[in-house]
Amino acid sequence: MKQRELRHIGILTSGGDAPGMNACIRAVVRTATARGFEVLGFKRGYAGLLAGDCVRLGPRSVSNVIQHGGTFLGTSRCEEMKTVEGRKIALDVLEKEKVDALVALGGDGTFRGATALAQEGHIRIIGCPCTIDNDVYGTDYTIGFDTAVNTAVESIDKIRDTAMSLERLYFIEVMGRTRGFIALDVGIAGGADHVLVPEVKADLDKLYRDLHQLIHGQKRSGIVVVAEGGCPGGAVEIGRQVGARLGLEYRVCVLGHVQRGGAPTARDRLLASKLGAAAVHALAEGKDGFMVGQVNGRVTYTPLRDTWEKVKDLDAEAMKLVGELAK
Ligand code: ADP
Repeated sequence: MKQRELRHIGILTSGGDAPGMNACIRAVVRTATARGFEVLGFKRGYAGLLAGDCVRLGPRSVSNVIQHGGTFLGTSRCEEMKTVEGRKIALDVLEKEKVDALVALGGDGTFRGATALAQEGHIRIIGCPCTIDNDVYGTDYTIGFDTAVNTAVESIDKIRDTAMSLERLYFIEVMGRTRGFIALDVGIAGGADHVLVPEVKADLDKLYRDLHQLIHGQKRSGIVVVAEGGCPGGAVEIGRQVGARLGLEYRVCVLGHVQRGGAPTARDRLLASKLGAAAVHALAEGKDGFMVGQVNGRVTYTPLRDTWEKVKDLDAEAMKLVGELAK
């Protein structure tokens, strides 16, 4: 079937919020309006789409947002979108608002929803990877990841002062229920002695032996970074099973949602700006059903289905580095 002429672009942010979403919306809106397209922003992700809750966005609507975390459009988790009936409502809204293409900002769940919409109706889709977890195939980094890593490292630097002064061991839990990208980068950049990630089965006996060796060698403090899914029970359980046996005072610190918010780093703003613009360029070129990403510094287009069907590997060399640098 011949593609509809592109005139109206819809945009929404969905799933977990990520710093840099605003910068990405800004780039989409300004690139699109400069090319003569109309942009409609849907509030609260798919929930707002189903409710027909939308606003016309022009270049001035996105003034003064580049530096803010979160998303001014709002986001949500919307169960109705997972049903054919729910998506029918969404498609009716898109038809009514004359939206020809949708730019979806989010993670793999958001892309699954958008892909289902495209299969069931006449809407073109481009995805922009926005999630702090970096767990999306097709891009070296997702928008929001760098900020989350920097936030966690900043916290670890502070905790380290206390760890050193009071000679304590800290088990620090960072986000990552199923993937360890945050934990690994935070572990290396924060100078951790150990990192536990969901991709590698936790060996608590080995962890105990390693820490024992360090502590009864020359170290009088230590930092272990644990992804939420790095071990059943997370950092609290590791503290109980390992920390309590080491003969050094220990504490557990769960960093939690502070890692989600805050001003995006320059790197996240850059990535968001590049990928937002690339999303509009892709639509203008007639592309459909792709996620824009960046691999080795170049903008890439990955079929949306690959973003959740293919797996992005954790860097095994980087995992080894943690141990080598902890001596
Ligand atoms: P993320 O996009 O960050 O991965 P979620 O997994 O929470 O976040 O997904 C965001 C939203 O995308 C969900 O609340 C739902 O509305 C929609 N979604 C997720 N998975 C599907 C699916 N299989 N089919 C249709 N919509 C989906």
